[in-house]
Amino acid sequence: MNIRTRFAPSPTGQVHIGNIRTAIYNWLYARHTGGKFLLRLEDTDRDRSTPESVQEIFDSMEWLGLSFDEEPVYQSKRLAAHMEAAEYLLSCGAAFKEDKGGRGQGEVVVFRMPGKDVGFDDIIRGPMRKSGKDLPDFVIVRSDGSPVFHLANVVDDIHMNVTHIIRGDDHIENTFRHIALYRALGSKPPEFAHLPMIVNEHGKPYSKRDGAAFVGDFREKGFIPEALLNYLVLLGWSPGDDREILSREEMIGLFELSRVQSAAAQMDFRKLAWMNGEYLRKLSVETVAEKCRNVLKARGLWDQSIQEGYYLRVIELMRERMKVFTDIHDSGAFFFTEDYPFDEKAVRKRLGKDGAMEKLKAVRDRFAALEDFDERSTEVELREVADEFNANAGEFIHPVRVAVSGLPGGPGLFEMLEALGKERVIRRIDRALDRFETLKSPDEL
Ligand code: GLU
Repeated sequence: MNIRTRFAPSPTGQVHIGNIRTAIYNWLYARHTGGKFLLRLEDTDRDRSTPESVQEIFDSMEWLGLSFDEEPVYQSKRLAAHMEAAEYLLSCGAAFKEDKGGRGQGEVVVFRMPGKDVGFDDIIRGPMRKSGKDLPDFVIVRSDGSPVFHLANVVDDIHMNVTHIIRGDDHIENTFRHIALYRALGSKPPEFAHLPMIVNEHGKPYSKRDGAAFVGDFREKGFIPEALLNYLVLLGWSPGDDREILSREEMIGLFELSRVQSAAAQMDFRKLAWMNGEYLRKLSVETVAEKCRNVLKARGLWDQSIQEGYYLRVIELMRERMKVFTDIHDSGAFFFTEDYPFDEKAVRKRLGKDGAMEKLKAVRDRFAALEDFDERSTEVELREVADEFNANAGEFIHPVRVAVSGLPGGPGLFEMLEALGKERVIRRIDRALDRFETLKSPDEL
């Protein structure tokens, strides 16, 4: 059998991750089976379909590497075929005209449901059945002559020889009607696979109120397309073992529609961020540097005078713990500006503590006297001072970290000090000593 799947989005807005996951599963299934993956733009809603949305679909698919076969089909160009099908259904008695308005205007075409039970074997959900009495006749052509979704969708799937319809489970109810339409049009219904919804932590359909919901959002936030693809593939499907990082080839090789879960799939941002971090660390330092530079430029932190050697060193330090490129700003801004913010809690905890300022001052003076200011020498020096104070090294490490970065955590302190350089480190410690000198009680912050 030559498998043919399709993605049939309605271009009426941005591309939701649930929609793109539908595209991904159609694409994977076609690639896995050596079949074809087609694209059809269901753009018959003239008021809501826009060329920008069509472009957004193309861009999202390209960004994620979802290549389709054959020319995309625009549903709006197939009106004649839809009307021909309606005429055919009228001619064989499978449809009838009804005057809704009652005055000769507003004539619609109604499809006559066969009155029998309709059933199908869903690849994901198993046997589905609906009683004939719960399947009333329905309109297929509106009074303005435009075809209704059900008619256009089925006629186009027949035209495109689609063998497997993989779509969201919000279409299950439609499928019973569609099967009757296929039969009335003399076509064997294709196979159906209805995908589970993507839900938020409360089990409700995942929407933009829950955070990034459109492919464009993730792109803007600097997510790596391969990571988002990998994450979405696993949102409802698994290869059957605990592998999580899958290359494109592995996904294609392993994908089975029958292994798609039927229960709703919960969006988990932390897992997505973790996965993005895994992909990020596979990129070269130069690529990460380039992406981060764009973030810094966009956030007004890039300065022409930043030295290349310094910048690459910072990237090396940061990429070990970065999850997304924007982390260069969110947790690494202090590398690029003297005007870095101080984390209040960290200041209270590390600099507000009794004796912390004396310790900071002592280590500052020893650092200032160092000739070679590097990772090793700063560590040796700091540990010596700690010994002299009969204190734990942590009582020096934390205040220094907060003073030079404003943050409670980050890259290893001594690597960070070496990267920042002696001059900058001393200047920053001095400023912190000055600024937090009068910090006597935590309430003064
Ligand atoms: N345009 C419909 C949608 O986006 C198509 C459903 C289908 O795949 O048949 O929900």
